[in-house]
Amino acid sequence: MNESSRIFLSVLIPVFNEELIVEECVKRLSAVAQKTGPYELVFINDGSGDRTLELLLNEKKKNPSIKILNFSRNFGHQAAITAGMEHAQGEIAVIIDADLQDPPEMIPEMIRKWKEGYDVVHGRRKRRMGETIFKTWTAAFFYRLLGKISNVSIPVDVGDFRLLSKRALQALIKLREHHRYLRGLVAWLGYKQTFVEYIRDERFAGETKFSLMKTIKFSIDGISSFSILPLRLSTFVGFFSSGFSFLYIFYALYAKFVLHDVVPGWTAVVIGVFFLGGVQLICLGIMGEYIGMLHEESKARPLYLISEIY
Ligand code: UDP
Ligand code: MG
Repeated sequence: MNESSRIFLSVLIPVFNEELIVEECVKRLSAVAQKTGPYELVFINDGSGDRTLELLLNEKKKNPSIKILNFSRNFGHQAAITAGMEHAQGEIAVIIDADLQDPPEMIPEMIRKWKEGYDVVHGRRKRRMGETIFKTWTAAFFYRLLGKISNVSIPVDVGDFRLLSKRALQALIKLREHHRYLRGLVAWLGYKQTFVEYIRDERFAGETKFSLMKTIKFSIDGISSFSILPLRLSTFVGFFSSGFSFLYIFYALYAKFVLHDVVPGWTAVVIGVFFLGGVQLICLGIMGEYIGMLHEESKARPLYLISEIY
C-alpha cells in the first residue's frame, strides 16, 4: 500500500478486442508516463473475445506498472472507464483510448495545466483524421445540439481523453447512474476546467468498436441524462395539435350550418387520424425513453463485474 500510494499518474485505458494495438499502446504510453514519475497503466479489458488479455498479461510480465481489470463480459466503454477510475491509485488520472487516436504525448501538457491549478483538463479535437465524413459531421452536430439543450454546459468536440485531479475523480465516482455520459458528468462537477487542443489521429490499427447502434444509444443517453427538453417538446406538440384541432371544430360547424357543405370528409379525417396517431406515438416513445431509464436506475445493479484483477 505504501508503494502504491506514491503513484503519481494513473493512465486508464479501456480495451475491447484490441489485439492489434496492445503492444504499441503499452510502448507509447509507458514512454510518456515514465517521464512524469511513478505511474500505473490500468487496462480495463471490456470482455474482449480475442487475444487482448493474453497480450496484456505478456506485457505485464515485462512491465510491473501494468494493471489489468478483466470484466466478466462486455459492459461498454463508459463502464470500463468508471472501473478504471475506481481502481486508480495515482495523484492524477488520465483517460485515453487504446487506439492511439488521442496522442499520449499530450499528457505532459495536461499535467502542466493541472499544476496551474485546474482539476479537469479536456483534450479538445481540433481536427479528426481518418474518420468518415458521416461520423465527423454527426458528431459535430450532436455536440452542438446537446450543448444547446442540456442543463449543464457540456464542452463541444471533447471526447473522453482528459486528465482528472484526485478530487474530481472521487466526485465522479460518487455519481452512480447507469446511463453514463461521462462528458456531461464531468461538466456537471464544476471545479476549474480547461482544454488542450490536439489533432485526432487515425486509429493505429483495427476498426472502430463503436457500431452505429452503440453510437446512437450513447447519444440518446447523453441527451436524456442532461436534458428534459424532449419531454417538454412532446407537451408542446400535444398542445399545438390539440389547439389546432379545436380551431378545426369551428370550421367544421361553420361548414355544416352555414355553408351546408358537408362532404363525406374522408380526406380530413384520414389526415387527422394519421397525423395525431404519429404525434402520439412520438410522444409515447419519448416518454418511454425516460421511463426506461428510471426502470434501469431503479434496479440499482452494479455498473460492471470484474472477474480477475492482475
Ligand atoms: N471500447 C470498450 N468497450 C466497448 C467499445 C470500445 O472498452 O464496448 C474501447 C476501445 O477498445 C477503445 C475505446 O473504447 O480503446 C474507444 O473505442 P473506439 O476507438 O472504437 O471508438 P471511436 O474512436 O471510433 O469513437
Ligand atoms: Mg478510436
